[in-house]
Amino acid sequence: MINFQYARANDVADAVRQAAGNANAKFIAGGTNLIDLMKMDVERPLKVIDITRLPLTQVQYTAEGGLRIGALVRNTDLAYHPLVEERYPVLASAVMAGASQQLRNMASTGGNLLQRTRCHYFYDVATGCNKREPGSGCSAIEGHNRMHAILGTSEACIATHPSDMCVALAMLEAKIHVSGASGNRVIPFAEFHRLPGATPQRDTNLNASEIITAVELPSNGFATNYTYLKIRDRLSFAFALVSVAVGLDLDGDTIREGRFALGGVAHKPWRDPEAEAALRGQFANPATFTRVADIVLRDARGYAHNAFKIDLARRCIVRALTQAARRTPQSQSSKKIV
Ligand SMILES: Cc1cc2nc3c(=O)[nH]c(=O)nc-3n(C[C@H](O)[C@H](O)[C@H](O)COP(=O)(O)OP(=O)(O)OC[C@H]3O[C@@H](n4cnc5c(N)ncnc54)[C@H](O)[C@@H]3O)c2cc1C
Ligand code: SF4
Repeated sequence: MINFQYARANDVADAVRQAAGNANAKFIAGGTNLIDLMKMDVERPLKVIDITRLPLTQVQYTAEGGLRIGALVRNTDLAYHPLVEERYPVLASAVMAGASQQLRNMASTGGNLLQRTRCHYFYDVATGCNKREPGSGCSAIEGHNRMHAILGTSEACIATHPSDMCVALAMLEAKIHVSGASGNRVIPFAEFHRLPGATPQRDTNLNASEIITAVELPSNGFATNYTYLKIRDRLSFAFALVSVAVGLDLDGDTIREGRFALGGVAHKPWRDPEAEAALRGQFANPATFTRVADIVLRDARGYAHNAFKIDLARRCIVRALTQAARRTPQSQSSKKIV
């Protein structure tokens, strides 16, 4: 048991003030990841700042016709929100594909963005792990790596980002609103999470003491032709081996715009601009979808136990794009799952 100070923040400025200058402070929202990490001795904050009373629980229209989702909106409330179900069903599907009902009832939007990898060596303090302890090595590269990444890996880390919600947010091109000691800023989703490189201990480009206040969605939610496909070892309560969020804008059988992001394959939700460009103006058919899957996976690298993910990802991309084109989304809308 480590001793830590517990403090409650009264407003966003107070939260930032309490965190500023204290590298060992952590915000706590739903606590579904942070408490586990503390119990396993992976995270050792000296101060835990409770942000659950901050007024960040609203889902509101933006002036641009999009949605602003407060950082403390619970995953369940997000998935069941009428505007999300109607205008961003791919996001509702992705959130409902994650964790369990009880966890979704606790987990917050901000916390989901910052949940840490599920690499088992990261949670096992008896093993070397560059993410947990920089310079201690990566036990997964030569170890058991079935769940690990096939894209964007480095010699220092091959972990994946575990979130489902983030895969949909990447495809939707959300923006992250944050507040810190130097003021407020907005981070495009593609620049929020990082690849491991030589510094896998840093998951995101959030600065110390910055708090996430909201996630902003643009007006286009691809509510007609979309899908969130998640392949996992069990039908529920399991992290993705591979997942794909797709949004298509079709003119008959021709793709005006196509976007997709992959989960379970990299240190961050994976998008490939070249592959998406290859969808534009093409027929929505298996030949097109197979071609773009090959583009995405051109540099994929498998390790001892996860090479199967390369073919799995290829099939998932083709299937998810096909389902979106046919308007047969894989995961049910949150309305249909109780
Ligand atoms: C058994 C299990 C299965 C799961 N399965 C899935 C799954 O299949 N798919 C999936 O996507 N997720 C899954 N999860 C993860 C779950 O979704 C996350 O634990 C949850 O979203 C984290 O949210 P939280 O509010 O509880 O975060 P917390 O645990 O409170 O915080 C997590 C991190 O975020 C930081 N933080 C929280 N809010 C803010 C903020 N506003 N600003 C700055 N920093 C902040 C904290 O300091 C901490 O570092 C699973 C979790 C468990 C325990
Ligand atoms: S893959 Fe990353 S998180 Fe897992 S052991 Fe290696 S360095 Fe640690």
